[in-house]
Amino acid sequence: MSPAQISRRTLLGWGSLVAIGGSVAGPGVASAAPNFPDPGKDTPLAAIRTYGDMVDQLRKLERSSRYPVTVRTLSEIGTAESLTEQGRELYVATVGTGDTPVWVQGRIHGNEPYGLDSSLTVLKRLATSGAKEWRAIREEFTVHVIPCYNPDGSEGNIRQTILWDREADAPRLDADGNEQLVDLNRDWAPDAFVARESLAWYEYWTMVKPAYALDIHHQGLKTDRETGEAITFSLGISLAPGGPTLPGIEGGEYDVVTRQMQGHVWLETLNRGFISTDKYDVGYGTVIDIRGGVVSAMMLGLDYNGLNPTGHSNPAVFFETSGNTRDGNIGHKARGKMVKQNVLGLTAWLDGLATGEVFDVDPQIWDDEIPGTPVLQYFTDWGGIIPA
Ligand SMILES: [Zn+2]
Repeated sequence: MSPAQISRRTLLGWGSLVAIGGSVAGPGVASAAPNFPDPGKDTPLAAIRTYGDMVDQLRKLERSSRYPVTVRTLSEIGTAESLTEQGRELYVATVGTGDTPVWVQGRIHGNEPYGLDSSLTVLKRLATSGAKEWRAIREEFTVHVIPCYNPDGSEGNIRQTILWDREADAPRLDADGNEQLVDLNRDWAPDAFVARESLAWYEYWTMVKPAYALDIHHQGLKTDRETGEAITFSLGISLAPGGPTLPGIEGGEYDVVTRQMQGHVWLETLNRGFISTDKYDVGYGTVIDIRGGVVSAMMLGLDYNGLNPTGHSNPAVFFETSGNTRDGNIGHKARGKMVKQNVLGLTAWLDGLATGEVFDVDPQIWDDEIPGTPVLQYFTDWGGIIPA
């Protein structure tokens, strides 16, 4: 929208409205202060699940779950590239018998650990729970769970992956002798696909052709700009709603459906006292419009190397939880709640799509009720900063 179209309410920002206090009522008002434990000074790396832990847990679930779980590597599935830069296997678990494929991924950024824990927790519920809600999800969907998109970055506790010379078993250096780090969430662009992980997962996406996708991240310790209180959970759409890209896709359908998905998650997690939710941003007035992000490229229906000739696309959203593995950011004591809010959000998302409730949500909830910064500009990976 243009600045002239920004409503007074939006300009004030949600924080101001909350600060006004009792004069504002309705479902959009922030609940009580989130009660997350202080993360503490040191990062408890020993308590963070490793790639090996993930493989063990997937295999255990495959052996012992009540409802069938299939665990495969991309090598077994047979994508042309199937290993990480450093040669690790890439794992996906599927559960459910429905005709509609759904994609859930975590830990594309290696130093953002709990997408792995959260997606494994949800996978376990899908694999073991006889409750009506989980049964409906299994009957409607085949859920493809990728707990760890970036095993190398996870093992190295870094955001990116490192381009690797497998013969020398050493990093590939650039002309200046530096290691080449690739952010895998900028690598699904027509001129990108630099890392092997991107080629591998992209090809798998063209095979699955999911109907919906969700990606789980961490964002450090965000606070409300007005009140200073912790924001524990941010809801994201990587091509800005109403922005320069999304309204032009599929006749505007994804511009509506992505808002409905996040609106549904918002409504379903609203009264959980320990969660404080807003919309994702990258600074006051600034939201992203990142076309090379994985979930963005999915929405754009990217056809790379002729692997997606039919132009399959699917709406996709992401979550951002507090903390990452910088010290002082992700204490062991807050872990349970960080994972739990992702699990609640992910469950609401799957359930709402399976029952169809998502499609009854008023998409304006995104704009009018979920707290967030006013949209003044778009931060893009294709045109710099663009005024809204
Ligand atoms: Zn991230």
